[in-house]
Amino acid sequence: CGIVGYVGPRDSQGILVAGLARLEYRGYDSAGIAVVGENGRLTARKKAGKLAALRESLEQDPMGRGTTGIGHTRWATHGGPTDLNAHPHLADGDRLAVIHNGIIENFAELKKELVAEGVEFLSETDTEVAAQLIARAYRETGDLVAAFRAVVNRLDGAFTLLATHEDHPDLVVGARRNSPLVIGLGEGENFLGSDVAAFVEHTRRALAIGQDEIVAITPDKVTVTDFDGNSVEPQPFEVSWDA
Ligand code: GLU
Repeated sequence: CGIVGYVGPRDSQGILVAGLARLEYRGYDSAGIAVVGENGRLTARKKAGKLAALRESLEQDPMGRGTTGIGHTRWATHGGPTDLNAHPHLADGDRLAVIHNGIIENFAELKKELVAEGVEFLSETDTEVAAQLIARAYRETGDLVAAFRAVVNRLDGAFTLLATHEDHPDLVVGARRNSPLVIGLGEGENFLGSDVAAFVEHTRRALAIGQDEIVAITPDKVTVTDFDGNSVEPQPFEVSWDA
């Protein structure tokens, strides 16, 4: 339901949770974050219930500093509002984290294909199918953008997908089809959000991502391509309203 991503020099946890708080107005039933820590390992925390439940869990059992991360508030469509069904969903030996807004209409047939290959699922979500497909494609190339390109054309329905992998501690990759995603441009840091509210307290400079496009952000670079890999010039806009 709500999506935020961060790459830059700052500790991402606070930025992610604050961004999710700004997206709360959309409604949600669970929340979670994944951060690539300074120790190089990906860590995720996710909780059914309000953001307060996630905050409390992070206070009681801190995750440790990490600068790259993604955050999600979930409005359950496939699978009840439980901790396990909350996003992020992990794959590739818990080294890849994926969050998703929307509905993947053909998830059942894709899941069958993966189960036949021996993939085990922990949740009842459509999202975990996308996470496992991205993981499978990633293992072939070690390139997260190429993995997205291999997967997104197979997904029907509506999705904004964001992923981060501990092999690439400065990178967040996203894609969108029939669901919104915008880029926030900072100084030595960049943001992604399902809407500008996710990052408006940090920057007013934004770039629109078009339908069926893939974006990769690092602290000093933004790259947008279409689903076939052709490069795209994203449209800049200034966030003018008061947030
Ligand atoms: N379909 C996904 C799920 O049920 C994502 C829902 C959302 O947009 O939050 O987990």
